[in-house]
Amino acid sequence: MNLVLLGAPGAGKGTQAQKLVLEFGFDHISTGDLLRTAVKDNTELGQVAKTYMDAGELVPDSLVIDLVKERLAQEGSSAGFILDGFPRNTAQAQALEEALEELGISIDKALLVSVEPEVIVERLSNRRVCKTCGYTGTAQDSVCPRDGGEMYQRDDDTATTVRGRLAVYSEKTAPLIDYYQDKDMLVEVDGDRDIDGIFEDVKDLLGL
Ligand SMILES: [Zn+2]
Repeated sequence: MNLVLLGAPGAGKGTQAQKLVLEFGFDHISTGDLLRTAVKDNTELGQVAKTYMDAGELVPDSLVIDLVKERLAQEGSSAGFILDGFPRNTAQAQALEEALEELGISIDKALLVSVEPEVIVERLSNRRVCKTCGYTGTAQDSVCPRDGGEMYQRDDDTATTVRGRLAVYSEKTAPLIDYYQDKDMLVEVDGDRDIDGIFEDVKDLLGL
């Protein structure tokens, strides 16, 4: 089964993806990681991507899709894959679908982890990160429980910034929810609960 992951920043979709990978052996394909690795390894696509990144421009969709195709051409898990970070809008979803069709691959389900915006604002603005090791905790951690390092709030995580990110998300990505709904591929799970409860629902909804 091949999945795309949908959900606002801070909805916890990455956590659910990790659990699916651990329990069922899905390939986790993060387009952000693919890009970083391609640039680091100085591959052909990585070199092209780097010219955009160095110029402070967005890497074109076609290049991201080429990276995904390159990745999918390698031997994958028999469980299928979870695509994370792409598509982010309807045009990307259509382009992806066409590109995968050429490889005889299709997306089966779009998994949406949904959480009310104000819950996300509270969640993210309460987040603190360790300066030394990157551990992610909450405002209740006065120091890092791992190494006693100083905990700080990322600029991205202030309530105002989070609201801005959520507004961008709902403008660009919300139409994607309708797109997959129309194709009868959408699977929606309530993400405002404990992680294991959400995961039980995810497994039920996906028939795993
Ligand atoms: Zn630490």
